Amino acid sequence: MQSHAKVVIIGGGMMGVGLAYHLAEEGWKDVVLLEKGELTSGSTWHAAGQCPSFIGNYNMAKIHHYSNTLYPRLEEITGQPAGWHGCGGIRLATTQEEVDWFRYVAGFSANVGFHMEIIGPDRIRELNPWIETDGVLAGAYTNMDGHVDPSSACNAMAAGARQMGATIIRHTRVTDINVLPSCEFEVMTDRGNITTEHVVNAAGCYAREVGKWVGVETPITNMEHQYLVTEPLKEFQNIDFELPVMRDPTTAGYYRQEQKAGLVGIYEHYGSREAWAGRGGFPEWDSDNEIFEGDIDRIAPWLEKALERMPIFANAGIRRIVNGAIPHTPDGNPLVGPAPGLRNFWQCCGAAIGIAQGAGTGKYLAQWMVHGDADINMHSIDPRRFGEYANPDYTRAKSFDDYENMFETPLPGREIHAARPNRVTPLYEPLKAKGAIYTEVYGWERPKYFAPEGFEEKLQYRRNNLFDLVAEECRTVREHVGIMDLSSFAKFDVSGPGAQAFLDQLTANKLPKRAGGINLTHVLSDGGRIQGEWTITRLGDDRFYVLSGAGTERQTLDHLNFAAGDDVTVANVTDDYGMLVVAGPKARDVLSPLTDADLTNGSFRWLSGQEITVAGVRVRALRVNYVGELGWELHAPMEELATLYDAIWAEGAAHGIADFGAQAVNSLRMEKGYRGYGGELTNEITLIETGCERFYAPDKGDFTGRAATESVRDMGIITKLVYGEIAATDCDIYGGEAVMQGSEVVGVCTSGGYGHATGKSLAFAYVELDKTDGLEVVILGERRALTLLSEPVWDPTNARQKA
Ligand SMILES: Cc1cc2nc3c(=O)[nH]c(=O)nc-3n(C[C@H](O)[C@H](O)[C@H](O)COP(=O)(O)OP(=O)(O)OC[C@H]3O[C@@H](n4cnc5c(N)ncnc54)[C@H](O)[C@@H]3O)c2cc1C
Repeated sequence: MQSHAKVVIIGGGMMGVGLAYHLAEEGWKDVVLLEKGELTSGSTWHAAGQCPSFIGNYNMAKIHHYSNTLYPRLEEITGQPAGWHGCGGIRLATTQEEVDWFRYVAGFSANVGFHMEIIGPDRIRELNPWIETDGVLAGAYTNMDGHVDPSSACNAMAAGARQMGATIIRHTRVTDINVLPSCEFEVMTDRGNITTEHVVNAAGCYAREVGKWVGVETPITNMEHQYLVTEPLKEFQNIDFELPVMRDPTTAGYYRQEQKAGLVGIYEHYGSREAWAGRGGFPEWDSDNEIFEGDIDRIAPWLEKALERMPIFANAGIRRIVNGAIPHTPDGNPLVGPAPGLRNFWQCCGAAIGIAQGAGTGKYLAQWMVHGDADINMHSIDPRRFGEYANPDYTRAKSFDDYENMFETPLPGREIHAARPNRVTPLYEPLKAKGAIYTEVYGWERPKYFAPEGFEEKLQYRRNNLFDLVAEECRTVREHVGIMDLSSFAKFDVSGPGAQAFLDQLTANKLPKRAGGINLTHVLSDGGRIQGEWTITRLGDDRFYVLSGAGTERQTLDHLNFAAGDDVTVANVTDDYGMLVVAGPKARDVLSPLTDADLTNGSFRWLSGQEITVAGVRVRALRVNYVGELGWELHAPMEELATLYDAIWAEGAAHGIADFGAQAVNSLRMEKGYRGYGGELTNEITLIETGCERFYAPDKGDFTGRAATESVRDMGIITKLVYGEIAATDCDIYGGEAVMQGSEVVGVCTSGGYGHATGKSLAFAYVELDKTDGLEVVILGERRALTLLSEPVWDPTNARQKA
């Protein structure tokens, strides 16, 4: 076995092999994949092989779609059969909310590139003559997908990888990994060691154990999942077509034709089981091709429903039951990207539908590893979206929920209550008592909105009964003053003699010159793509306070830690400081009596920060906010947050103070035209496409991503971010909706919302540069005019913030 490699991939299932193939295709030939058994001897070999195009997340849909375009071509490319069945798929809807979800997904399908049609029961029966459609309102028909034989497809990709120069070594188990002083890795196996620059953990159900060797927490839980195959059916003997793969929420599963037999798989809602639960959820190292005893009773209630839908299956005997293990993550998406805290250690695991995802995740992870950036937004699969809070107990509870809800319609506003609350501030209970309904962000409980007792949100894609509640919260902020616990922000103290030079090199904007100055700035990759958005306050000559969005705590920490030299100290103070936003025209009137500090413009200007005392609590007061009003963010010691809140609330009573939540923030920031990280600002684009040139200072000297950004600016861009008003009536933009010019798709919406103070439905979108006239967006199946706006609809001169 060779002693050196550029990259070692641990695991020869669909995920590891998919990556090896695409790394080789991207030009990295010195790739070694190590598999302890045969290729596919983990979860991959016993998978049912379905590859749906239909998935509710725009970026995941790109991953699925890519797989569905590669698998049918694999035989031609590699000379090895891949077992592709292009029979298409139909997902059934029995409620109007589900039909709306179909319309939403159909809205982005054209953008992604797959064909999707919403069809009625008659057409469903034409495509599947044996199905009972009682109660079915519609089907989402995707004719470019189907199912694949997992072993054949995996082996065909392996053949392709070898043909392009990758090395695949079977029957070789990785037993440990050392991180060397050179930052390389020594990968130890039962057949010798390999020194390598990069390691990829594609170990499927073993991924948590592999991560442990290098101190990387890998939030997966291995779940048992069953499908059964019937005896051959006489009805299928002489047909010259294959049934589409059926997906059916009422049966919590899928059913399809398997050669001349039937196949039914169920994601049971209770009684679901962690695989190898008695052994901590972990298989033995020498277990290959392992399956568990079938347990029909566990899936019986849903199986019965499936058999009612496909009565011909009920008449056939069961030939075999496959009960195998699948890794699930807390949010159902795979872990694909850099592992937290360790440079050049990559995750490519946690895939619950890894047959559908193996090729696509391989392609985009390979781009990331080779070029420093992927061409799609990787935010929702980046392993760093989880922090230390995602411990095994948390992961187990969430993964169970994910497993049981695999076929649930992901309606907007649905909260997953498993493993909560997790990260809370001292205000969690008091605000709950005042009606706070929370959402979870990076383990934190964040107020979403405030509701009277007994209120229940009607979950749907269209505007719902939340509309008036959020309108009232927005009105308070616009007309009086609102208060919000936004402690979930990630917060870092960066200090030391080298701090200024360090941050200057790492970020695109100039650092504030004077103590108290605040700047918004971005972290870029070498290729100039956006990796983070930070607010930096200079606290002193060599002291800086760095803030980033809650979901990016781990990414920011890694950006800082990986680049910091000995003359810089980085402290993660996220849990040490709570943060209250106090915003609205009366904000100064409320805060002034509580502090000796002069809050007038002469002493405390907009975009500046000071360490002051408010209600006896020492705070870092920053005169900034994301809602576009006069206001302060007050960063206070966590243990004193409630004292501060109570004092502000008491003082605010005379000024009409009210609580507000994240739903209101979205409405308010849309009116101000504030871009969001992860939506508008992503790894897909540079600051030039986002129109953020004012936060970019090429004249300040060199910094990471400068040269690439300059070159994009000089060469010109092909898409740009636009902001506009939508002629919407009862539904606003979620993100992912197609932007059309006539019959042509010319862009995609990134986020949106209803501006309650202005009465406008607003959106951001990326559109082709020269195609900005006569635009429409597709909202829930209807085309609505998008009128571009050159400035924010609320306070374009920032007069209110400067007041
Ligand atoms: C019953 C069932 C039905 C399914 N149906 C579908 C479906 O229809 N569609 C779909 O998309 N997905 C389906 N899945 C899920 C799918 O099987 C998995 O998501 C996918 O196989 C995961 O691939 P992987 O490469 O991450 O893991 P695996 O296939 O488990 O590969 C990991 C590999 O790593 C190797 N390995 C681990 N540790 C080491 C080590 N230390 N050294 C060397 N090698 C190591 C293992 O031997 C294994 O081969 C199904 C799963 C089950 C159980």
